[in-house]
Amino acid sequence: MHSRPWKNIKKSRKYMYIDKNKNRWYTYKPRSGEFTRISRGMLDTFLKCPRCFYLQKVLGVKAPHIPFNLNIAVDTLMKKEFDYYRNLQQTHPSIKKMGLEFIPYKHKDFFDWRGDEEGNYYGFGFEHAPTRIELCGKIDDVWRDDNGTLYIVDYKAVATSDSYKLTMEYKYNQGYKRQIEVYQWIFRQNGFNVSDTGYIVFVNAQTDPDYFDNKLEFLLSIEEVRGDCFWVEKELENIRACIDKTSIPESSQDCDICQYYNKRLMATNHK
Ligand code: SF4
Repeated sequence: MHSRPWKNIKKSRKYMYIDKNKNRWYTYKPRSGEFTRISRGMLDTFLKCPRCFYLQKVLGVKAPHIPFNLNIAVDTLMKKEFDYYRNLQQTHPSIKKMGLEFIPYKHKDFFDWRGDEEGNYYGFGFEHAPTRIELCGKIDDVWRDDNGTLYIVDYKAVATSDSYKLTMEYKYNQGYKRQIEVYQWIFRQNGFNVSDTGYIVFVNAQTDPDYFDNKLEFLLSIEEVRGDCFWVEKELENIRACIDKTSIPESSQDCDICQYYNKRLMATNHK
C-alpha cells in the first residue's frame, strides 16, 4: 500500500500576518483616491460583470458564496502532499513519472503567499501605483526548475469519467488560464523570474467503481498553460475607472441571476 509520509509533517512554522492595512479590503469610496485591494477572484468577477464587482467593492453587497467543501478537502491534501516533497526538495513521484523534473519551491514566505482556507491570510500581492490598486491572490503552489525559474501551479479537483471532456473543460476554461496569468503577473512584479508556462494539476475522482465503499479514488493529470499577462494592467485601469464612477454599471447580458431577479420584480410589481 502507498505510504503517506506527509501525514507526519510537524507544523512548526508560525504564520506571519502579512496584511498591514486591512482597510484596503473594505468598500471603496468613489473618487477618494485611496489605495484599495482586490483579489484575483474579484478581478475575474469584474471581467464577467462590472455591475456585480461594483456592488461588492463600492456598495458592499456580496453575492452568496457556496463553499465546495469536498474540493477544499482535496486541495488541502494535495498541498500537504506537495509540502512533504518541498521539505525534502525532491520532485513528487507522480510528476516525475510524467517526465517533469520540477521541485516544489521553498521560500521563507511561501506559506504566507498560499494563505489559509479560513481566509485569515491574504496571500501574495502587488501594489500597482498608477491605479492605486493592490492585486492579490492565494497561490496553490510554485515549482522551480534547476535554473531557478519558477512555474505557477494550481490544483483542481474534478469528477468526470470522460478524460476528453476534462481536456475540453480545461482548454475552454479561460478562468483557469487567467488565474495562472494573474499569479505570474504578481510574482514578476515582485521581482521573481517566472516562466510563461504554468501548470494545472487535475485530480479526477473516479466514478467507475461499482461501490462507494467509503472511499474515492483519484487520477492525477497535468495540463500545461502558456500564460500571457499583458492584459492585467489594462484591466486594473478599467477597474479604477469603474470604482470611481458614482453610477452602477449595467448588468451582464449572459448572467441568469439578474434576469431572474428583474422578471421576478416585474411579476410582483404587476400583482
Ligand atoms: S448580471 Fe447581476 S447577478 Fe449576474 S453577475 Fe451581473 S450583477 Fe451579478
